[in-house]
Amino acid sequence: MISRKHWSPGSDVSVQSVERRDSGGWTVSGSLTPNGICPDCGLQSRRRHGWRRRRLQDYPAHGDGVTVTLWVCRWRCLAPACPRRTFSDQIGSIARPFARRTSRVGEIVSHLGHATGGRPAERLLHRLGLGVSDDTVLRQLKNRAQDTAEPPTVIGIDDWSWRKSQTYGTIIV
Ligand SMILES: [Zn+2]
Repeated sequence: MISRKHWSPGSDVSVQSVERRDSGGWTVSGSLTPNGICPDCGLQSRRRHGWRRRRLQDYPAHGDGVTVTLWVCRWRCLAPACPRRTFSDQIGSIARPFARRTSRVGEIVSHLGHATGGRPAERLLHRLGLGVSDDTVLRQLKNRAQDTAEPPTVIGIDDWSWRKSQTYGTIIV
């Protein structure tokens, strides 16, 4: 028997339930401990504004996909000088803002995309129980490249043909 703790996408998430979906796959419902710290002014709020549901793709289990439904608390910032009126608790340890998958799944997508390219990575990820399109693989790679923010030290220029002897493109690597 796998305990609820093993389904958790991060140490600060408490898992309430794990259900098998009729359509296949698993749904893990969990919540974060509310902290109410405004990301702009850093002050702690005590005025709750509601809850926001985040749905995140996580590691597959038993060969099936896992979706984590995470309830995140929304707050009202009461600091008069703060430009932000409402905000959600940050889940940076689990996923980036607006991400549709956990950071640990994003890492796998990036590594496979880097090693094999968009379409091969898509096929391999599907076999691993992670339904991700080739466009998503490439987008993940671009985001990761922006995060590193190191200036390039070697630049290569090459060309290829979209259609042989008719249309050519240039690529900067
Ligand atoms: Zn604030």
